[in-house]
Amino acid sequence: MPPVTVQAIVLRRRPLGEADKVLTLFTREMGKLSALAKGARKPTSKLAGATETCVRARFHLAPGKTFWIVTQATAERARARLHRLLVNAAAAMYACELVDRLLEEGVTEEDLFDLLASVLDELEESEHPTWTLCWFENALMLQQGYTPMLDACARCGNEVEGEQVAFLPEVGGVLCASCARTVTSAAKLSRLAWLAWRVMNAGERVDFPGESTAGELEHAVHLHLRYHIDREVKSSQVLWQLRQELLGNETYPPIPLP
Ligand SMILES: [Zn+2]
Repeated sequence: MPPVTVQAIVLRRRPLGEADKVLTLFTREMGKLSALAKGARKPTSKLAGATETCVRARFHLAPGKTFWIVTQATAERARARLHRLLVNAAAAMYACELVDRLLEEGVTEEDLFDLLASVLDELEESEHPTWTLCWFENALMLQQGYTPMLDACARCGNEVEGEQVAFLPEVGGVLCASCARTVTSAAKLSRLAWLAWRVMNAGERVDFPGESTAGELEHAVHLHLRYHIDREVKSSQVLWQLRQELLGNETYPPIPLP
């Protein structure tokens, strides 16, 4: 079969492997088909924008073994506003789900009530919904008494230094360089992300620090939350799946240390 050029709307995208996406495309010319977009989950990928749900794009497709392979994609309608609304709504739904799972019937939780009310207010307007969610997840952990140890090594108590800091949910905090050498995987935080986390734990709000720093902290805070919630809430897997499906940042693999 020769390569084709089609106009399509992305009905669905699901992650495959480390960085690929499998797309369900509704093409004008050929109807519904599945296509593989290699590397499209990397933010730097040229295919990233055009392979999101609801986007209308022109696709160049080459025949592959199982799927068509996306060789080029140009968004015609990126639907940035719609996409942002979807992500904000998804973040709000996830926050409600999370709280639902933590609550028992008939128990008063005023602080948690105020916290949820305030994150929902913010998600109506937020330009950076996953960052807003990160603040919420962190505040929730602080409220539940799971304050991560960030000032010194959570394993040996020594000073933590360097441009990069390792965070390990199992020990409940950051590690000094020598303790970090003994673990095979941990989340990696830049100095900036680590400092931002300490500021948040002191009860301050931190303005959006840019994609890369925010991404690192969102990852670490979520790992921390997930570690504790998984021990408390039986059906938590469903919750993580919801977060993944709604927010698109599907996997949270621990980042191997250098
Ligand atoms: Zn240590």
